Amino acid sequence: MLQQTTTQAVIPFYERFLKRFPTVQTLAKAKIEDVYEMWSGLGYYSRARNLHKASQVLAKKFPQTAGELLELPGFGPYTSRSVASLAFSESVGVLDGNVIRVLTRVHDLDYDWWKTAERRELQRLADAWVKGLPSEEMNQALMELGATVCVPQNPACLLCPLNKICEARANATIALRPRKRPRRQREVWAWQVQIIEKKGKILICRNPTVPFMKGQWLLPGEAKLVKKMPKQFHFRHSVTHHDIFVTLQPASSKLDEVTFSDRKWISSSELHRHVPASLVQKAYQMHQRR
Ligand code: SF4
Repeated sequence: MLQQTTTQAVIPFYERFLKRFPTVQTLAKAKIEDVYEMWSGLGYYSRARNLHKASQVLAKKFPQTAGELLELPGFGPYTSRSVASLAFSESVGVLDGNVIRVLTRVHDLDYDWWKTAERRELQRLADAWVKGLPSEEMNQALMELGATVCVPQNPACLLCPLNKICEARANATIALRPRKRPRRQREVWAWQVQIIEKKGKILICRNPTVPFMKGQWLLPGEAKLVKKMPKQFHFRHSVTHHDIFVTLQPASSKLDEVTFSDRKWISSSELHRHVPASLVQKAYQMHQRR
């Protein structure tokens, strides 16, 4: 839940979620629609799907090492290493934005830290920093130092326990570390959506032409990458680096225009449970108002 979301925002969702799914087993047995319902309002629903899938593995066997945890859906290097370190004291360093800032400053590293080779080097350093120490304490200390003392602007160097060994401080390069990551270029997409309803049911499909919600159930329609913003559209929505201009197609669209094989009919009133993404909700609400 904490990926892409602040702790403050997460707390009420977390409490509500745990009340509904108090154990890994209850979560593993739940329907994905019920998981979505408890996730509703947090956004980035792929996290809910991954958590649900991971719970089905975890209900059988809980991996104990970062390497094994990495196999779980939704577990990248950061999550795997955090869990292995904090829960099982495995000697692995955790690399998040805060730790990257501390390490690049203490070692005065002019790295493109988002690139694989440099990232690997930083990971090696993070591992070296926890070696021979209680990794759970050291990892949390480094993350906390980055969050509260070695902050992006005006770090509190006088209060910092590492100020005597900090090379960026000695070299007066603090403001240059870490390097700024170049902005990812935004993509403009035009999405023509069809809302096809029949006897209280609505058609949804896994839409292979839509890259911004890959593999998810969506409304049928065609998405095209375009050079600039379309002149006419019903609404605009942003998902990560995608700017999506949505046009609802006329209600006369025919079912046989929907060519996707992976499709199903669901009750219109249940759409929010099956496809909670706000992009789809907005499109459906707009359709209802027309
Ligand atoms: S001395 Fe300053 S720049 Fe260096 S690690 Fe501490 S807070 Fe960060």
